[in-house]
Amino acid sequence: MELEKIIRDTAKNLLKLSAIVLPPTVEKALRDAYERTPEGPGKVQLKAIIDNIEAAKRLKKPICQDTGVVSFYLKVGDDFPLKSGLKRILTEATVEATREVPLRPNAVEILGSNTGTNVGTNIPWVVIELTEGDYLEITAFPKGGGSTNVSQVKMLSPGLGMKGVLTFYIDSLLNAGAAGCPPYFVGVGIGGGENVCVELAKKALLRPIGVRAEGELGKLEEKMIEAGNLLKIGAMGTGEGPTVLNVSIETACRHPASLPVAIVFSCWALRYSTARVAKSGEVEYLTHRGIVLGT
Ligand code: SF4
Repeated sequence: MELEKIIRDTAKNLLKLSAIVLPPTVEKALRDAYERTPEGPGKVQLKAIIDNIEAAKRLKKPICQDTGVVSFYLKVGDDFPLKSGLKRILTEATVEATREVPLRPNAVEILGSNTGTNVGTNIPWVVIELTEGDYLEITAFPKGGGSTNVSQVKMLSPGLGMKGVLTFYIDSLLNAGAAGCPPYFVGVGIGGGENVCVELAKKALLRPIGVRAEGELGKLEEKMIEAGNLLKIGAMGTGEGPTVLNVSIETACRHPASLPVAIVFSCWALRYSTARVAKSGEVEYLTHRGIVLGT
């Protein structure tokens, strides 16, 4: 099969998989939370979430009515062809997935209306990392509006250091409350500039749950999970069950005068899906191995 068609079909399938089946580490974190939550309203909400996850798989329907705004994160090998055509191919895949899955149209032009296709000005958003090799790695990352609405970015005074980061995280969680459908997965980006810290925080959400950053940052992640859960916002705001299931931090060097920090929330429905397409046309699914949804 022609490589362009393979990429388009793979991207379309990744959008379908991400809308319908959570990555296994995300589902496990939710199931573990259900097991350790005592009887009560929090457990009832977690049970509803798990029933929903199972129903979505059985019925092959999206996990949530809000199927998100579409981003793709790519790793493009220097020996992989079709580079200049990738954005067009991914845009076509998004239009087809919107029609066929179907996905809710979520792309609204800033001075216009809903395009109806999930594509429009700069959407799908495509982030490209160049790498060695002859493969293309595609991650589809649709993100819902509820948790996006409570995400925050702030330029801290560098003197505040990691204590300032922790305080900003807690303030962001208090501000979010239950509005972003907790329990939350949280990506934290520290450093770079305004745009860099937000991209880092979004990328942090793609790290498998439970894989800690090295050294002091890993300890900070654990401290943030513990501190977040002391707030007792709870599953869907019930005050019971976990508030935060995971925190992942990514960093970049900062300007001496700046400490930019982004706190990007994901609701319990942290959806993404990754596959690798070789130059030969061979496709390997990485996050959703062996899961076939068919048509
Ligand atoms: S925040 Fe998440 S679970 Fe809640 S409505 Fe949006 S996509 Fe769905």
